[in-house]
Amino acid sequence: MSEKPAAKVPFADLHAQYLSIKREIDAAICGVIGSSAFIRGPYVDAFEKEFAALTGAAHCVSCGNGTDALYIAMRALGVKSGDEVITTAHSWISTSETITQAGGNVVFCDTDLDTFTIDPALIEAKINPRTVGIIPVHLYGQPADMPAIMAIAAKHRLWVLEDCAQAHLARCAGKAAGTFGSAAAFSFYPGKNLGAMGDAGAILTADGVLAERMAMFARHGGLSKGDHRIEGMNSRMDGLQAAILSVKMKHLEAWTAARRRLASVYDRELAGLSELEIPIVSGGREHVYHLYAVRHPRRDELKKFLAERGIETVINYPAALPFLPAYARLGARPGDYPNAFRHQSMVLSLPIFPEMTGDQQGAVIEAVRAFCG
Ligand SMILES: *Cc1c(COP(=O)(O)O)cnc(C)c1O
Repeated sequence: MSEKPAAKVPFADLHAQYLSIKREIDAAICGVIGSSAFIRGPYVDAFEKEFAALTGAAHCVSCGNGTDALYIAMRALGVKSGDEVITTAHSWISTSETITQAGGNVVFCDTDLDTFTIDPALIEAKINPRTVGIIPVHLYGQPADMPAIMAIAAKHRLWVLEDCAQAHLARCAGKAAGTFGSAAAFSFYPGKNLGAMGDAGAILTADGVLAERMAMFARHGGLSKGDHRIEGMNSRMDGLQAAILSVKMKHLEAWTAARRRLASVYDRELAGLSELEIPIVSGGREHVYHLYAVRHPRRDELKKFLAERGIETVINYPAALPFLPAYARLGARPGDYPNAFRHQSMVLSLPIFPEMTGDQQGAVIEAVRAFCG
């Protein structure tokens, strides 16, 4: 029997995070069980208020996960058959599959070479009378160029839905990511910067009418029992996840600072290595390093080299969205999305998590330097 040895440096360490706040988490879980507040109730209400306050949004509507958050927001924004929604070619599939689920047509747009986020200079050429909205993704934790995107949206009267799944507490031009657009979708998948112990998600908005429509849609089309004004769905954050997230939220600023410190050490120690490109942060953007993605032309060899030394890495993502089999119907060619296409074979996410030790990071740095000669 061969057992895989535990990684010397894991990609993330959720257990270490739990141990660091075990007493608070255990007490929160016992509180929910003790009061049987499993669905809705005081823990969910408290989380919604706290998360809105943390980000500076007027309203927070909690839901089952980040994918539902995107879908619910689009249903509430009124996406209908034939509508076109523009989004980035480089993201997790939730961003685009929910456009289709909501009844719209996905229109991909290439990314900018430095930040991996949607290139605002390419958006206007994709706009036509059927276009209704834009979904920028704050990829890896770096906000997209929101001032430029908002200007285009205003000019063409489009809504903007921010995909903030990787960008809790990120900022752009002095403003919180998630407070630019009509609405912003967050994921609290366990591995995200603010992660539950299961699935959870939320939508932020400044618009009270939209907030009510989203809450209604997520709760079978009504806000009180028996009152179904529309057909909706069942997507809810449960009380256990809400209580856990309220505990973890108190640590999020410190965890974000730890991610930034680790990123600055990587930046310093990996700068100038042959063929390796470290992340580029554009002016005015405050990155929260959900992921620390480097680029290397021999990415697969680098990944293997690190794995042989017990270092876990992840490719985010092995194929850009237009090139996935799921979008074969669009017939995308590499030249249609040259940056996203180029990056799919170059990006590699190195381990970065708040509990990462100096020894762990030192091992990653040493191995990357060894590979680059
Ligand atoms: C994680 C993620 C989502 C989806 O969140 P889930 O909670 O897993 O449904 C959406 N968009 C991006 C960019 C993500 O990283």
